[in-house]
Amino acid sequence: MPELPEVERARALIESAALGRKVAAVDDTDTWVCRPHAPGEIADAVTGATLVGAHRQGKAMWVDLEDGPPLGLHLGMTGRIVVDGNGDRLRSDRFRIDFEDGGSLVLRDMRRLGRVVLDPDLSGLGPDAAEVTRNGFRERIGRGTAPLKARIMDQSVIAGVGNLLADEALWRAGLSPRSEAGSLSEEELDGLRRAIRAATRRAIRLGGVHTGELIPHRERGGTCPRCGAALERATIGGRTTYWCPRHQP
Ligand SMILES: [Zn+2]
Repeated sequence: MPELPEVERARALIESAALGRKVAAVDDTDTWVCRPHAPGEIADAVTGATLVGAHRQGKAMWVDLEDGPPLGLHLGMTGRIVVDGNGDRLRSDRFRIDFEDGGSLVLRDMRRLGRVVLDPDLSGLGPDAAEVTRNGFRERIGRGTAPLKARIMDQSVIAGVGNLLADEALWRAGLSPRSEAGSLSEEELDGLRRAIRAATRRAIRLGGVHTGELIPHRERGGTCPRCGAALERATIGGRTTYWCPRHQP
């Protein structure tokens, strides 16, 4: 499932390959992916405009258009962005922009859980998990009785941390996913912020959250790649969670 690093790679792809290009045509006929817009509504708003910016906050991504409203592109569970593909049109292509120069930008999504929307509402999103300030992180994360893992995955608190990135960052920081968010010291909070940033940067560089150090060991019988202890497994915040009972006490 795309988390912050996957979305950042998609954003960077759009930034490097699609900005400055003018939209000649739009296929917005998938009324589920393009809800609540009627077919043709996004096309009317976007056709003739030029892509001038690509932005991300957590897992939310949008492009800025010259002479048009922002266009939100959400990858959902299985979506990815393809710029200038080989020309094939697949059943899993849910939204398509054709550029005047002959190329294209496609949202390709097997499970159809991605979303394309004009003027995306970002008001419920916390600051980006990789950009939030030290004080902002302390104030937002270090409160309440929720398990720490649930707190860092709450997109209204900080945006971008999904299930795998949460396990990876808590493992790096040596913090139990079960500890009460409000019980952490400032030092622990600062360490967790650094761990999230480091895990995020690494995943962006290497290709996605699946490249994390803990991730390959998240399976029954898995052991901690740092200390060798048998990993614990439980459902926390509704999600399957793995952690090391020895160095994440
Ligand atoms: Zn360990």
